[in-house]
This record gives sequence, C-alpha cells and structure tokens, in this order.
Amino acid sequence: MKEPVFVTRPHIPPLDEFLPYLQQIWDSRVLTNGGPFHEQLEEALCQYLGVRHLSLLNNGTIALMVALKALDLKGEVITTPYSFVATAHSLSWANLKPVFVDICPDTLNIDPAKIEAAITSQTTAIMPVHCYGHPCDVDAVRAIAHQHDLRVVYDAAHAFGVQYKNESVLNFGDLSVLSFHATKVFNTFEGGAIVCHDAEMKSRIDQLKNFGIINETEVIATGLNGKMNEISAAFGLLQLQHIDNALASRRQIDSMYRQRLQNITGIRCLGISAEEKFNYAYFPILVEPDYPISRDELVQRLQDKNIFPRRYFYPLISDFEMYRHLPSADRKHLPVAAAAADRVLCLPIFPDLDRSTVEYIVSCIVEQTG
Ligand SMILES: *Cc1c(COP(=O)(O)O)cnc(C)c1O
Repeated sequence: MKEPVFVTRPHIPPLDEFLPYLQQIWDSRVLTNGGPFHEQLEEALCQYLGVRHLSLLNNGTIALMVALKALDLKGEVITTPYSFVATAHSLSWANLKPVFVDICPDTLNIDPAKIEAAITSQTTAIMPVHCYGHPCDVDAVRAIAHQHDLRVVYDAAHAFGVQYKNESVLNFGDLSVLSFHATKVFNTFEGGAIVCHDAEMKSRIDQLKNFGIINETEVIATGLNGKMNEISAAFGLLQLQHIDNALASRRQIDSMYRQRLQNITGIRCLGISAEEKFNYAYFPILVEPDYPISRDELVQRLQDKNIFPRRYFYPLISDFEMYRHLPSADRKHLPVAAAAADRVLCLPIFPDLDRSTVEYIVSCIVEQTG
C-alpha cells in the first residue's frame, strides 16, 4: 500500500455541509451550556437510537464517571478485563474497586457464570462492556443483578445503534454509556452520552455534568464539567444524517472479510448473533495456534506492507501496573480473556475503506498460509 491503512479513519461529512451550523453558532454566540444544538442532538439521538432519555457529555470517560456518581456506588464493581482501559479507570476515579472476571469465548463479553462467583458483601454493581458492539448476555446479567440487588452500568462505548431482540441494547441495565470519540462509529470529535430510564435520573446526570449546580445560589453535588459544546453537538446532528450510509458501508466490508476469511486455517472471526442488529464497529480476528505464524508476527508482516491493524484488547486491563496487584487480576482466573488478548487483531474497517484494500489485506493474511 502506498498510503498507510489504519484500523479506523474518522468518518466526517463534507465541510460545506457543516458551514451553516458554524454560521449559526457564530451568529448566536451560544457556545456551550445546553445550547440549541445540544438540545436538538439529545432529542435526535433518543429518536434514532430508540431510547427514552439521553444526556450528552464531553467524552465517554467522563460519562462513565458521571454514571457511577449518579448511582452513588460504593465498594466493589464486577467488570471485564477485556476492554479499553477507561472502563476500569472510571471505577478507580470513583473510589470503587474493580473486580475482574473472565469472558465468554464466543462473544468475548463478560461471562455471567463468573459474575455470580465473584459477588461478595461489598459488591454493589456490575459494569459489563458490549465488546466490539456485540450485546452482552443482558438477560443473564439482569437476572443476577435482580437477585443480588446490584446496579448495572453498561460500558456501551462500542454499541451505538446496536439492537438486541429488536430493541436498543442501550435500554438494558440502569445506565448505558456511549462514546462519540473520533474513532467510534458515530463521532462528535470528542463526546459521549448516558442513557437512562427516567427524567429524574436524567436531571441528576445533567446536574452532575454541570458542577452540581442547580441554580444561581445552590450547588447540590460534587459534580464536574462534563458538558458537550455546541460545535460537537452540531457536528453530531450532521453526522446523524450520514450514519445509515456509514453503517451500510461497514456492513459490506464486514461481510467481505467474513466471506474471504472463513476457510483460512487458524483465523477465527467472531460471529454475529441472529438476535442482534449489529453496527460493524470493529472487525476482530483471532489468530489461533494452527495459523502458521503468531499474531505478533502477522502484525509485523502487515505493518511492513503499510497496514496497521490494532491489538484491541491487549494487554488486558488487569495486566496494567495499577491493577495487576488485585487478586482478581491474576491471569490464572482469566484464561479466556488472556487467550483472546494474545490472539486478537482488529483489522481496518471504516466506511470509506476501499474494497480493493480489503482484498489486499485478506491476501496478505492468506499469503502466510501458502
Ligand atoms: C472509547 C472507549 C471508552 C472511552 O471513551 P472516550 O470517549 O474516548 O473517553 C470507554 N470504554 C470503551 C470500551 C471504549 O472503547
């Protein structure tokens, strides 16, 4: 490849489509603090996603922190080690102790059977991740949470637009948190959101993202600054007009990879369940032991050809220095996650990825087996 091909490339509409939005911001001088674009985007996203209440934030990590604060959690939270590091970091920032449990081999999502075993008298919540956008076993998680009176906060950073059994996956759990970072399926440069079930919770979240201020003289909580600005909100509104085309394009790339890679010895693609409407956010493959070279050797050979896939998620969160002292971080309790981290490779997927580049990437993977 002449130009480097990265795992993703932020999707942005033509600049001239954005200029009228900018003009409106310039004219009104409303730059932030719940301006008109912020309000419109909240409403438009509720509509598009099929959720009742949604609060915009300035990024997904702050959104996770605000979500945990809104539920006023204490003690231990059961989570997955197989995620982006912000999942566990948000717990640490809230003074909560992450308890890592293993994942399912088919979905790489948290294993409900392992959740039950990790519950102690200190456990107050579960924070699963819809990894790569594939829904967790939400029914099993709900049953466990109900039985043990635990809150559930989904890190749904990958799950924009995903449905499970014809309903938004964001409607499961007490709260679901989205990321609109530049690299995600739907982006507002930086951004995020919390989905909740009732107006009371939304107003608590809206207070927390604005320093805990409720009026000129009263501050009722130790909030922070989590507000989305008007440029990001306006950009989100424009992005929404293009999202269906972007998802359709991702879907085509996904099926090309899937079809071309299905009979390659040692390469496994994650399945898409019949119960989900998927967003094709990532294209992870697992480089199994019967592939001729290791995952890391494959990365090197692809990089030599100017293809830059990423090892999401390697290392495991539980292997990072600030977490590895935890008893639950021991790899011997996390064999499925450890194997996935050592084998996974996310291939480039983004709406304007050339079909010929997909063929080229596949040919590089096949070449090693010949
Ligand atoms: C991207 C991501 C986040 C953090 O979102 P930001 O908007 O980048 O702060 C959290 N969790 C997961 C799983 C992510 O992929």
